[in-house]
Amino acid sequence: MSDKPEKFFDENGMRLDGRRVDEIRPMTVEMGVLTRADGSCYLEWGNNKVLAAVYGPRELHPRRLQRPGEALVRYRYNMAAFSVEDRIRPGPSRRSTEISKVSGEAFEPVVMKQFYPSAVIDVFAEVLQADAGTRTAAINAATLALVDAGIPMKGLVAACAVGKVDGQLVLDLNKPEDNYGDADLPIAMTEDGDITLLQMDGNLTAEEISKGIEMVREGCEQIFAIQKAALLERFGTAEEEEILEDAELQAELMSEEEEVSEAAEEEDAVEESEDLEAAETEDPEDVEVEEAEAMFEEDVTEFEVNEGECEEAAAEVNEEDIASEPEGEESTEEEGEKYEQ
Ligand code: ADP
Repeated sequence: MSDKPEKFFDENGMRLDGRRVDEIRPMTVEMGVLTRADGSCYLEWGNNKVLAAVYGPRELHPRRLQRPGEALVRYRYNMAAFSVEDRIRPGPSRRSTEISKVSGEAFEPVVMKQFYPSAVIDVFAEVLQADAGTRTAAINAATLALVDAGIPMKGLVAACAVGKVDGQLVLDLNKPEDNYGDADLPIAMTEDGDITLLQMDGNLTAEEISKGIEMVREGCEQIFAIQKAALLERFGTAEEEEILEDAELQAELMSEEEEVSEAAEEEDAVEESEDLEAAETEDPEDVEVEEAEAMFEEDVTEFEVNEGECEEAAAEVNEEDIASEPEGEESTEEEGEKYEQ
């Protein structure tokens, strides 16, 4: 029994999975998922699940396959036996051999093979779950796996298909659209917009192809953004974390400083208001009394100072008198009294 839908669009012109005609399926990527590969990336795109791994660059054997001035990029696309509803016979097929060849060539303009003469860079794309668009999904994952492996590249490669369903162009075909649509046009391109893969299944007019390519360009822009976000997450983390930590520390310090200065300001404000309150509540009579007391204290110290001076002067006079008395004569009490008077 055919599972062909009766119609591909609802009354609002939306596709059966709720997308607009120019909308790609949700895509998530994670880099560095395999520890034994030099580079890896796991990608989910709608119901597609793809794992890409890169080994190399390493010396190529047998030697007769070596390229003296550059590395050989070997791309192997494979669908797992359990990736579709009916079990796929394991091993290479005509389809997978063809996809492997054209997908490897999609990286020709970006991979800087001249840095690794006589070496091989192996790219493995394993489709774990297929739901149309697996070759494009594999290319999107392989790009990030290559970067993850540290292979020098001039830029990224993104891929997306456009097709025709019910006479209408739709971006990123899902399984029913791919199976029962009128055409399927998978395209890969560089960030500069150079097309590195273009295949076509079905019939499209030249005008439809041009329009389709423009739709793919838009889709690839979104994929590049997703890839770049994944790269930032993978390689920008340490630096970003440092910057973030610094910023957080700075913010913490600033807030602490603010708290301290706020507390000090509050304290000052409290003191000021207390002084003000005290000044307001002070009885003017009390102030007069305080002032009088202070004046009295001043007078007392002045008096004490004068008294001290008098005592010193008296002591001096006494010393002089004692010195003027003839030796051996003792003054009588009366004389003493007289003198004092
Ligand atoms: P792509 O996955 O790149 O769109 P195709 O257009 O050849 O490649 O295939 C479309 C979809 O058809 C695949 O994603 C997969 O779901 C399904 N398919 C492809 N080959 C097989 C197969 N041998 N057996 C079962 N389903 C398959």
